[in-house]
Amino acid sequence: MDLRLYDTLTREKRLFVPLDANNVRMYACGPTVYDFAHIGNGRAAIVFDVLFRALRHRYGAGHVTYVRNITDVDDKINVRAARDYPGVPLNEAIRKVTEQTYQQYQDDVTALGCLPPTVQPRATEHIPEMRAIIEKLVAGGFAYVAEDHVLFSPQAMNAANSVLPRYGALSKRSLDEMIAGARVDVAPYKRDNTDFVLWKPSKPGEPSWPSPAGIAVEGRPGWHIECSAMAWKHLGEKFDIHGGGIDLVFPHHENELAQTCCAFHTDRMANVWMHNGFLQIESEKMSKSLGNFFTIRDLLADWPGEVLRLSMLRTHYRSPLDWTLKSAEEAARTLDDWYAVAADAESGAPSPAMVEALYDDLNTAQAMAVLHGLRNAAASSEAGRKEFAGSLRLLGFLSESAAAWKGRKEQASGVDAAAVEALIAERTAARARKDFKESDRIRDQLAAMGVVIKDSKEGTTWEIAR
Ligand code: AMP
Ligand code: ZN
Repeated sequence: MDLRLYDTLTREKRLFVPLDANNVRMYACGPTVYDFAHIGNGRAAIVFDVLFRALRHRYGAGHVTYVRNITDVDDKINVRAARDYPGVPLNEAIRKVTEQTYQQYQDDVTALGCLPPTVQPRATEHIPEMRAIIEKLVAGGFAYVAEDHVLFSPQAMNAANSVLPRYGALSKRSLDEMIAGARVDVAPYKRDNTDFVLWKPSKPGEPSWPSPAGIAVEGRPGWHIECSAMAWKHLGEKFDIHGGGIDLVFPHHENELAQTCCAFHTDRMANVWMHNGFLQIESEKMSKSLGNFFTIRDLLADWPGEVLRLSMLRTHYRSPLDWTLKSAEEAARTLDDWYAVAADAESGAPSPAMVEALYDDLNTAQAMAVLHGLRNAAASSEAGRKEFAGSLRLLGFLSESAAAWKGRKEQASGVDAAAVEALIAERTAARARKDFKESDRIRDQLAAMGVVIKDSKEGTTWEIAR
């Protein structure tokens, strides 16, 4: 079955043909580790996890390399380290902040059902690769040294008569317009106002490394060069897919692409560029000042990770996603049902219709429609149940048993299952002696505890109302 992906660079959905089907290579920009990740970061992690799963399904689990980096050198990290660990030497404090935040991120995205990427490189462990790329750029005339900084020149890139793509092609910006529109108060060491930093001197106490290009003082990398270096080290000069949130198209990805193509004299960095749309909350931009800012951790206190995952996958990854309380409640009800039907079934081959939806530029909204159909078929046949279970697991659902899922819900609701069972037994006895007043009273008592009961020929079952 063909896989089609939308490429931000060419603005078209194309047949995906890997450079090497034995090793399909994807890179997604990961978190800057200074604080709890928010639910928008969670969306990016989920989207590229679904892509990873689709590629593993298509090419085989051992034939996909997924790199998601960790940005562990950044001003925000330094500020946080100084604030949280006063009196501790800055470098030590930075290590504490990045290690702790990285672990939190890892735990959060695991709870969201994301598989661990094949490699999770840290920027600070790739300084030699950054220096090597910078040296190549300086030697090629694409970058220059000024006041202990190294600057990249987009104008030099576009003046080069070669295979190189044009600077601005990814974000569809014209360099001439950027030059005209740039602010006048540019840093004095820049030759042109569109030049960006590859390397800069460190301030006293900040992390620092020996500088490239003959600069005598120690320094640290700019943000964009970090990803060029990590992608090169783990995926090579050219690879298949590069992804991230839509906010990264400019300047981050435009600059990564420029650095990598100019350093290696290639026409492209990745064959396909994929960007997820932004997540907003109840139709508003998520922001601390609006009071609608949620970390993944905040929401995991109220919802199982799979509920958050499902509520996000109902929207196509390129569309803006409106996260609402209502969408989480609906996803929770759906998952309660899916767990009850399929969680204890073995996985069969996933439904071809669902795989087809996934291979159509990760059309998870369509995949959801297919799943609802499969749910109905699952109720009537064991083969249907297995196909449904296999389809859900391919998307990263049903990681728990049905009993664990129900138990977690009970625990979260504070309902004591033994007390509920005892009340149901009393009610059954009342019904047996035709004391319907008493049985209704017990049902109301259970409802007040948030428990819904269902009577059938097989007896009475119960669940927590959402
Ligand atoms: P950051 O740690 O801010 O660099 O972001 C990590 C990833 O999350 C990047 O791929 C961002 O593009 C993505 N991201 C950040 N904010 C949002 C948002 N509100 N919605 C969706 N993705 C986001
Ligand atoms: Zn990046």
